[in-house]
Amino acid sequence: MHRKFFLFTVDVEDWFQVENLRVACPQDKWDNFEFRLEKNVSRLLELFESFDIRATFFVLGWVANKVPQLIRRIHSMGHEIASHGYWHNMCSDLDYKQIVKEIKDSKRLLEDTIGDKIFGFRAPNFSINRTLVEQLAKEGYTYDSSYNTFKLNPRYGNLDVRAKRDINGVLELEAGLYEIPIFNLHIKRIVLPLGGGAYFRLLPVYFFIKGIEYILKQNRWYLFYMHPWEIDPGQPRIRSISLNHRVRHYLNLSRTFPRLKNVCQYFSDRKDVDFISCIDFLKSQSV
Ligand SMILES: [Zn+2]
Repeated sequence: MHRKFFLFTVDVEDWFQVENLRVACPQDKWDNFEFRLEKNVSRLLELFESFDIRATFFVLGWVANKVPQLIRRIHSMGHEIASHGYWHNMCSDLDYKQIVKEIKDSKRLLEDTIGDKIFGFRAPNFSINRTLVEQLAKEGYTYDSSYNTFKLNPRYGNLDVRAKRDINGVLELEAGLYEIPIFNLHIKRIVLPLGGGAYFRLLPVYFFIKGIEYILKQNRWYLFYMHPWEIDPGQPRIRSISLNHRVRHYLNLSRTFPRLKNVCQYFSDRKDVDFISCIDFLKSQSV
């Protein structure tokens, strides 16, 4: 029987660093907002520990600078630390030099923080582009996980995917640089957003679980993403943003944690499924 892999990924940013809230929470005011990340990450770590899950945490440089001890704790519990950039800037808003700075600064800071190597990167809002890919390869990253195959969200980047190789859905984009895409459910020409995030809070959990099962039937692996603020219904509410952004950000926050538990329980009961980090997964594919 083929082993199946569940890649559980967490984008480590706090509620005020999200793109939907940017107008109300500019970067130069971040220090003034209530920092709620530690408590939420701790809940996730407990959840992972109880199901023996190894996950990947894509951490913002800003966060590592503020709470280095938290990042060291995540790492010491056996999870992988990867980079989510420093300032949560979308690559589409940055020029070449700014992109290089984001990926270089965050990598160096995270490596200094945990005393270990950083292999992976995820662009804020999946805003991947060709410049990012080329520079990640130059800066010594091993993989990127920013390509979302769900196209209806206009913020998601577009990548002219000219992969050198396709290894079970992992794409070699440059020599030695691999893309682990956010995998959605493809049925003929329809793509259902089953990667996580707001769609996980929107869709019934039973539907989500069945969708993941379906993906795992056809594919050897599945990748899920979420954010610590998504399990925090007590976070401050910002009213001055658009209705669309308000709905996306605040939808079903109180339901996320119990739903996560359902998913973890369901797939850890399946003895052929391993929850592993992105880098261990890549190694298992002998790339
Ligand atoms: Zn993010």
